[in-house]
Amino acid sequence: MNNAGLYVSGSCNLACTYCYAGEAKDRPMDGATASGALRYALSESDGALHIGFFGLEPLLRFPQVQALSAEAAERARMTGKRLSFSMNTNGTLVTQEVISWMREYDVSVSLSLDGGRAIHDRNRVFHGGNGSFGRTAGALREMTRAGVKLLVRLTYTPETAPRLEESARELAALGVKRLGVAPALDAPGWETPGVWETIAEQYRRMVRLEHELQQSGQEFKWLDVDAYERHAERQQPRENCGAGTGAATIHTDGTIYPCHRFAARKAHPLGHVNTGVDENKRARFLREVADPLPDCLACPVRGQCRRCPELIELVGKERFCQHRRTTIPAVLNARREIAGQPFAEHAMAIAEIDGKLYVIPDELLKKFEVTREQAEKLAGKKTVRRTDKDKPGEGLWYEIGESDCY
Ligand code: SF4
Ligand code: SF4
Repeated sequence: MNNAGLYVSGSCNLACTYCYAGEAKDRPMDGATASGALRYALSESDGALHIGFFGLEPLLRFPQVQALSAEAAERARMTGKRLSFSMNTNGTLVTQEVISWMREYDVSVSLSLDGGRAIHDRNRVFHGGNGSFGRTAGALREMTRAGVKLLVRLTYTPETAPRLEESARELAALGVKRLGVAPALDAPGWETPGVWETIAEQYRRMVRLEHELQQSGQEFKWLDVDAYERHAERQQPRENCGAGTGAATIHTDGTIYPCHRFAARKAHPLGHVNTGVDENKRARFLREVADPLPDCLACPVRGQCRRCPELIELVGKERFCQHRRTTIPAVLNARREIAGQPFAEHAMAIAEIDGKLYVIPDELLKKFEVTREQAEKLAGKKTVRRTDKDKPGEGLWYEIGESDCY
């Protein structure tokens, strides 16, 4: 194991409408379980271990987080292991003492902030219903000033998606330098007509926004896009995201789950810190949940897709894959447009033209290990058809229906 998540608090001081943990209220992790979790994680790690503090809101248990990080540092020192820390927080409980701790342990912080006040407060509210924007934005300001390693995570729903680029712009104005964007795929509204077109357009605008800000000299990075770019040449699906192999998350009672998202739903418990992982359960999880979908092998975005087995289990592959097949081509093509490089000259597996998706032209098929036979077979499907229309590049193009997997 190289990545251990610790659920230290089991509850949250906010009641965000889209929270993937629902309304969970668990007892906080007690001291003995916390020490056991740490011992287990360190014993399972090789040279280096990353410890992520989750909560639901981990700062509800800040004294324990402090104690755990100190204990971890001491144990790592004795065993010669390298440690790094991260924390996912809503920011509302950040104080100067918390910031000092973040600095001391060089903690990478993921702060949830969805945009300006109007958008953020629509979903991210305290239990009494008041918005949390003021507190979170204040934390952002203080952490930025103190030089904390910070990533802001913007979560959007179908309802807020039309204002995605506007929200990113507002965050940039607040001084956000590193942005991650995540859809709440289990929120209502994904069946609304036009939602995917809206998202594709917003993602394209976000790419242009990033470019505009960078051109003006402002430090701003949209990290999801970097991830797509990093894998732009990869031709095979990601084997495993690490859930249940390199990663595990330990819940408040010491139960081990494959990752923080599975832990939030208490899905697929693999063992307990006192007894270790049950290898049969782990093997079943890897085989039945974590393996790439059969569809991935022929999927046009398989190289760039950060397949999330948890989300696929939660919302179904249709919605998950639709999101990936909408956003990846939108982003990559928008970036290439900016770079002045037409799509056809690039190792892209899919093109989006006039809102429709097209697989690569013939001469590029071999680059992606997609044979003509496979393409022909897929072209026989109802949702895929050959088109003779003029398209950039040469050769035949295959038009892909809305939710079909190439
Ligand atoms: S979009 Fe779906 S089928 Fe395609 S690579 Fe991602 S998870 Fe696999
Ligand atoms: S990609 Fe999904 S399943 Fe994998 S570690 Fe991340 S949240 Fe968990």
